[in-house]
Amino acid sequence: MTAPHDGPSDGPEDPVVYDLDADCTLSDVVEGNRYHAEVNGVVEYGVFVDISDSVSGLVHESNLSSDHQVGDELVVELTDIRENGDLSFDTVDVDEYETRSIEHDYEVADTGALADAVGDSVHVEGEVVQIKQTGGPTIFHVSDETGVVPCAAFEEAGVRAHPDIEIGDLVHIAGVVEEREESLQVEVSSLDRLTGDDADEVRARLDEALERRAEPHDVEPLVEWPALEQMFPDLREIAKQLRRTVLESRPIRVRHHADGDGMCASIPVELALRKFIEQTHQDPDAKRHLFKRLPSKAPFYEMEDVTRDLNFALEDQARHGQKLPLLLMLDNGSTAEDVPAYENLAHYDIPIVVVDHHHPDPEAVEPYVDGHVNPYLYDEDYRITTGMMCVELARMIAPDITDELRHVPAVAGISDRSKADTMTDYVELAAEEGYDESFLTDVGEALDYEAFWLKYDDGRNLINDVLNVGCDDEERHRELVEFLAGRAREDVDDQLDAAMPHVEHERLASEAHLYRVDVENHAYRFTYPPPGKTTGEIHDRKVEETGEPVITIGYGPDFAVLRSDGVRLDIPEMVSELNDEIVGGGVSGGGHLVVGSIKFVQGMREQVLDALVEKMADAELDENLQSTSIGHESDD
Ligand code: MN
Repeated sequence: MTAPHDGPSDGPEDPVVYDLDADCTLSDVVEGNRYHAEVNGVVEYGVFVDISDSVSGLVHESNLSSDHQVGDELVVELTDIRENGDLSFDTVDVDEYETRSIEHDYEVADTGALADAVGDSVHVEGEVVQIKQTGGPTIFHVSDETGVVPCAAFEEAGVRAHPDIEIGDLVHIAGVVEEREESLQVEVSSLDRLTGDDADEVRARLDEALERRAEPHDVEPLVEWPALEQMFPDLREIAKQLRRTVLESRPIRVRHHADGDGMCASIPVELALRKFIEQTHQDPDAKRHLFKRLPSKAPFYEMEDVTRDLNFALEDQARHGQKLPLLLMLDNGSTAEDVPAYENLAHYDIPIVVVDHHHPDPEAVEPYVDGHVNPYLYDEDYRITTGMMCVELARMIAPDITDELRHVPAVAGISDRSKADTMTDYVELAAEEGYDESFLTDVGEALDYEAFWLKYDDGRNLINDVLNVGCDDEERHRELVEFLAGRAREDVDDQLDAAMPHVEHERLASEAHLYRVDVENHAYRFTYPPPGKTTGEIHDRKVEETGEPVITIGYGPDFAVLRSDGVRLDIPEMVSELNDEIVGGGVSGGGHLVVGSIKFVQGMREQVLDALVEKMADAELDENLQSTSIGHESDD
């Protein structure tokens, strides 16, 4: 690289004439210097000359000593660079001179390819996506079409360098590539905001690249299933939005139902996104900053959770200069109960995307969400579980993780008791990986058990070992699952030994069996299994015992958990009727059509439960007994 243009010419007896490379730009020229030029146009008032492909200007006729034609070569002196970028030249008569060639001042390096440039001076151009002030330098994260690299600029310890630069600015940075622990960083020697044409050009380049890089992969479905395949285009859109979000360095926060299916949905998506973040960000902290997964105890987005999430997001924005996150709701998020939380987020720039299979309220939810995939929106139902959808979603984001996921849809389906015919295919697929059906059931039980004890923690590494996704010790996985599933079953047995003698039975007018149990007073509290699961287990035993339509209600002081088989319930509808009919009952809740939970005020329990039973007695029986039960929706 040569840059002689900043030195004065060597005096009249040895003049220097510069010869610009074709790719030189305005930044490579200096007023007062002499250049080799070529005439590219002749007009009345002078001639236009080129000194490189993109640098040209006018020699006014008053400065011309003879006539010229297009193609003539001459030596010119740059007399003026105007505000608007126009150049003026004079012709110069020189007999003897020294020609020095000038290369374009710099080549812009790809941030994704700096590993080979450690120790070198480089130039990078891109968008500032994060600005973090440390106790030492200010770290500007700069994103171009190949990746994101941290660039450290030092003003004074703990003092913000370049205070005029903001997130979203396009910049040109010159600096030296350094290796820092396992990662790369550019130590900034100069940092300038790009403006005008330079900025427009970079912006267009970045936009085009973003669009291209966000494009998800086309994947062959794991099993042939038209009901799921019709959702692929919409899942693909979600995959694209998630990839784009990573490329824009916007954090992703996943909220998922804390049950087996919810984990089978979120863990593959987590693995895929972490891989993609690793591929696209030089900063080893990016995975921690850009992705966070948290379980939700309730089968909807509670105010407590959204408050916590919003608080953290705003803190991260203030402390780490991060963008506000995108919220990805998995196995949760489709219902009207989620709306108050969404309304809360709507005060901020936080996009929301939902993949769920709970019975949705699209009219209520869709004003707030940027993407919504739910089988009910395609005339399908809960049998397509969120885990099944999300395994395909994860593969669209990062197809190379497919081999780790083949057993996951089967676990999801068994956990949520999907009655889909395709379950056979998924179970077969898992069998090819060495999973028999009873072990798949154990994995689901173990996930449920761990979800309960983890409470508000994501327990990432532990859950990865239980599900065997992103886990490298198959044997430990097997032993851990057997241990946890065994513990879970023992705890359930203890619980049912205590609760079963207190279960009350009656026969409804419809001939369905109704079982009621007070899970507050006749079951252990604050331990596994929680009330939802306890009710589900009692229900299952009664279904087995009778072989007839069964409804089970497990109630506490201000809540009731509902399970049914062989009865056509519509729980969301019943909840809305009860709320209208029982003044002062404070009834709310929902869930799936035939499995769910309701809340009410404690002092109105009697009235609410009586009215509930009446409605259940009116419900029609299902001719074919099967296909109305869904797994444990623990919401306690
Ligand atoms: Mn589910």
